[in-house]
Amino acid sequence: MKEISSSEFEKEVLEGGKVVLDFYSTECPPCEALAPKFENLSNLYGKDIKFVKMFRQQNKPLAEKLGVKSSPTLLFFDNGVQLPKTFSGGIKRSDIIHQLDSMLPAERVREIKKLIKPSVSEYDVIILGAGPGGLTAGLYLCQSKVNTVLVDIALPGGQVSTTHSVSNYPGFIEPQPGYMLSHNMSEQTKQCGTVYKVAVDVTMIDLEKKEVVIDEFETIKAKKIIIATGTSPNLMGVPGEKELKGKGISYCATCDAKYFGDKEVVVVGGGNSAVEEADFISKFASKITMVHQFDAFTANKQAQEKLFANPKISTLFEHEPRSFVREGDKIITEVENLKTKKISKLFSDGVFVFIGMKPNIELFKDKLELDKWGYIKTNEDMQTSMPGVYAVGDVISKKYRQITTAVADGTIAAIAIAKELD
Ligand SMILES: Cc1cc2nc3c(=O)[nH]c(=O)nc-3n(C[C@H](O)[C@H](O)[C@H](O)COP(=O)(O)OP(=O)(O)OC[C@H]3O[C@@H](n4cnc5c(N)ncnc54)[C@H](O)[C@@H]3O)c2cc1C
Repeated sequence: MKEISSSEFEKEVLEGGKVVLDFYSTECPPCEALAPKFENLSNLYGKDIKFVKMFRQQNKPLAEKLGVKSSPTLLFFDNGVQLPKTFSGGIKRSDIIHQLDSMLPAERVREIKKLIKPSVSEYDVIILGAGPGGLTAGLYLCQSKVNTVLVDIALPGGQVSTTHSVSNYPGFIEPQPGYMLSHNMSEQTKQCGTVYKVAVDVTMIDLEKKEVVIDEFETIKAKKIIIATGTSPNLMGVPGEKELKGKGISYCATCDAKYFGDKEVVVVGGGNSAVEEADFISKFASKITMVHQFDAFTANKQAQEKLFANPKISTLFEHEPRSFVREGDKIITEVENLKTKKISKLFSDGVFVFIGMKPNIELFKDKLELDKWGYIKTNEDMQTSMPGVYAVGDVISKKYRQITTAVADGTIAAIAIAKELD
C-alpha cells in the first residue's frame, strides 16, 4: 500500500485504473480501527485494485475538492472516474468488501474469496460491547494483567458517545460532552493494552465454547466472555416508521438535531430521554410538539420544569402516533386522541422517537436466563446462568440503567473474573 500526496493524485489515482483512496488523520480512533482492515484487504485485492492512502491534514485542498469532510474517508475510482460510494467513520470490513467486489468481475471475486484464510486467536476474556460497562471491565482486567479483547460492532463508546451532554458522571464539575467522556474512557482502556476489534461484524457467538467469529473469517477463543452489548431504541412499529427511519425519523438527538435548524419537529415519548432530548432539540428547532400516551410525563421533576418553561415546546398528552407519511418536504404524523379516538394530523419537518430501549441479545437470547422483559439475569458477581459467561451494564436485569451503574457492573465482573483466573 502506498502513501501519496496531492501532487501524485493525478498519476496514482486518476491514471491508476481501479483505486481505493483512504484519507486518514493522526489522533483519529476510527482511522486506527480502519488501518488493519485496509492493510489486510490490500493484501487480498491488491493485484486488481490499487490501495493508496493520503494524510488529510496535509492535503486539505484536494480532500475538500473531493468532498471529504472527515477522517477516515474511503473513495473509490475506476479509470479516473470517482465512484458514487464513499465510506467514513466506523467503516466495516464487510462494507469495503462489498464495494471492492462490485468493481471486479464475478469470476475474479470468487478466486479472491478462496484466498481468505481463516484465523484463530486466543485470549483470557472476550468482552462483547465497548460501552461504559465493557470499557470499564476491559480496564480492570488489563490492569490485572488478564489478556483481554474488546469486540464491538461499532466504534467504542456505546450510547454515551451519542449523548450530547452528561452532567451526572462523578469527577467532572461541568457537564461533559458525551463523545468526550466516552473517548476518554476508551483511550484509558486502550492505553492500558486491551486489544480492540471494533467496527466489525459479529457473525457467530458460541457461549458454551467461548468462541466468537468476527467478519466471517476470524475466530476468537477465550476462557470467559463478558456480554456488555447494551440496549437499542424501541421502534413504535406503526406504518411508515421503517420506511422513514433515517429519512426524517430519528432516534438520536445528538446525531440529528443539528439538521433541524429553524424547523418544526415532533418528539414522541415522555420519559427522561424524551424530555431532556426535546430540550436539546429546541436549541435548533423553531417548534416542537411532544406526543405522549399518558396525561403526564414520567421524566424527573427538574427536567419537566425546564421543558414546561421552554416556549418552543408544546405538548399533546394522551395521544399516540398511528402512522407516518412523507408529503414533499414534510412528514405527516397521524395521531390518535386516546380519549376521544379522534385522529388528527401533525405536519413537521422531522420526528424524534424516545420510547424506551430493548436489550441487544439477538445472537444469544436462547442460551441465557432472561427476565420477562428480555434482560439477562445475573448474580452479584455479574455471572449469568451459563458458567464462564458474565453480563454487565444496560443489557442486564436491573432497576437503574446509567453510566455509573454500567461502570460499576464492569468493575465487579472484571474483579470476579481476575480472581477466578488467578
Ligand atoms: C439519549 C440518552 C441519554 C443518556 N444520558 C445519560 C446521562 O446523562 N447519564 C447517565 O448516566 N446515563 C445516560 N444514559 C444511559 C447510558 O448511556 C447507559 O446507561 C450506558 O451507556 C450503558 O452502558 P453499556 O456499556 O451497558 O451499554 P452501551 O453504552 O449501550 O454500549 C453497548 C455497546 O455494545 C455494542 N454492541 C451491541 N451489540 C453488539 C454485539 N452483538 N457484539 C458486539 N458489540 C455489540 C454497541 O455497539 C455499543 O457500543 C443515556 C442514554 C441515552 C439513550
